[in-house]
Amino acid sequence: MIVCCYRVTTSTRLPAKSLREVASEGDALVAGGISQTPSYLSRKGRKAVQEEFRKQVQVFVKNKVDFLICEYFEHIEEMEWAIDVCRETSLPIAATMCIGKEGDLHNITVGECAVRMAQSGAHVVGLNCHFDPFQMLEAIAEMKKALEVAGLRPYLMTQPLGYHCHDNSKQGFIDLPEFPFALEPRVCTRWDMQRYAREAYELGVRYIGGCCGVESYHIRAVSEELAKERNKKPLSSESTILGVKDSRCTPKPWVRARARRSYWENLSPATGRPYSAAFSKPDNWGVTAGSEDLVQKPESTTEEELEKVFQKSDK
Ligand SMILES: [Zn+2]
Repeated sequence: MIVCCYRVTTSTRLPAKSLREVASEGDALVAGGISQTPSYLSRKGRKAVQEEFRKQVQVFVKNKVDFLICEYFEHIEEMEWAIDVCRETSLPIAATMCIGKEGDLHNITVGECAVRMAQSGAHVVGLNCHFDPFQMLEAIAEMKKALEVAGLRPYLMTQPLGYHCHDNSKQGFIDLPEFPFALEPRVCTRWDMQRYAREAYELGVRYIGGCCGVESYHIRAVSEELAKERNKKPLSSESTILGVKDSRCTPKPWVRARARRSYWENLSPATGRPYSAAFSKPDNWGVTAGSEDLVQKPESTTEEELEKVFQKSDK
């Protein structure tokens, strides 16, 4: 399945017609996505938070999306409020949290989060963003186990980062010092994405996608890995398998020697940076909903407030 997804703020006008046109070119579905709110972090309460979700969902319903996605939630409580609002429509609901194996930011386990999403009425449950493909699959395995114990059988969904983040802590890649402007050395190769697609499929995941850092060639790699299961190849790979065949044509014999999948699958790529460490040290400030630092304000951050944050960071 290929999906075009839109997230809107309440002031965004949704160009649903053009999105639908793009989707129909590839026989794809159109989804409307809502995600966690600053109002929740500022402790404004259920009614205020749900009102924000409702305004967005109404835009999606009006523009006839095929299904809804509640994505990028760090707290299961807010996710449940979001699913409740989506259930006011008759659309299918997918629900993904941006948490890892350590659970949500109020210490609810990842397994319990999966069970609560399914019990709230989500038809598809899983994870998106913040963690790399292989970290995400470890957490999904825990979700699957908890769902089985609870006797629930929603579809599973994964949309990981396109970055390697083995050094992630509980809040994921946003805690890494390279976030957001220096993550490129961590980009997954297409071979990483093929391995991810295969392992996800074998785990029982049937909505296999990607989030930040994932480029179109990564999605093509996922599609190619599962070509047999999907009974079709992506259009762009009709004549070549990820360029491996192309490398047979080079006059350089040592490059021709790389024209096999096993070579690329077993390669551990270097960074080319003489002072590049394998891992960084995450910031781990550990602030979340209820913290004074996260209260939303109508005006933008002042120079004075910024200076305080710089000082805290430099300590
Ligand atoms: Zn993301």
